Amino acid sequence: MSNRDYASTQLAKVLTRIQNACTKAGRDPSTVRLVGASKHQSARLIRDFAEAGLHDVGENYLQEAQEKQSKLSDTTLKWHYIGQIQSNKCKAIAEHFSWVHGVDRLKVARRLNQHMSAERAPLKVLVQINIDDEQSKAGVSAQAAPDLCAQISELERLTLTGLMMIPAPQSSPERQRATFAQARELLSQINQHHGLSLSELSMGMSNDLEQAILEGSTQVRIGTDLFGART
Ligand SMILES: *Cc1c(COP(=O)(O)O)cnc(C)c1O
Repeated sequence: MSNRDYASTQLAKVLTRIQNACTKAGRDPSTVRLVGASKHQSARLIRDFAEAGLHDVGENYLQEAQEKQSKLSDTTLKWHYIGQIQSNKCKAIAEHFSWVHGVDRLKVARRLNQHMSAERAPLKVLVQINIDDEQSKAGVSAQAAPDLCAQISELERLTLTGLMMIPAPQSSPERQRATFAQARELLSQINQHHGLSLSELSMGMSNDLEQAILEGSTQVRIGTDLFGART
């Protein structure tokens, strides 16, 4: 199979999964954005997927992402930053991405805001929540998320759009779904308490995208099942 055919086939497979999950959920598939999680995948492979019709890619490591962005600057790909954010990288992240998924501290949000140029469209950000309260994981606790969202929503050059999460592994699809449901409820609680209208839920990866879509995910971040195993 040619590289181009590989990309088309893989993309079609994932889009079919998204479509089937949307049918089951009674949702319009156009409400779910596919973000290709392309860490450790080559610029050349990403180009094949862009040509096959992938519009959004998510990268975790700044330097790696910037190298790919310069090789793919002739494409219309939208770049999402989905990795952990160090505050000394905020300037470069603000300058090189359209979406930032992993904001979990006010300090980081303020720095991103400070480095956004007024000429650009506001940076779209999501607050990462640590829904399972895992010690080792990034993200703000569910309890602290509402206040953080309220504070970030005041920043002029950012558009806070919703929540992102990476749940702990679960033993069954039902449990996966229950965790995603918690995120959906938290989003609506934040909207009610703070008069916000956040609409994005970035949740769902290769092994749980169906469950995430059933609970309202609007952005699934798919690596392995889209591009193949990471090199
Ligand atoms: C790698 C990664 C993904 C994709 O994971 P897969 O299981 O390969 O689909 C999604 N989100 C984040 C934040 C990632 O780092």
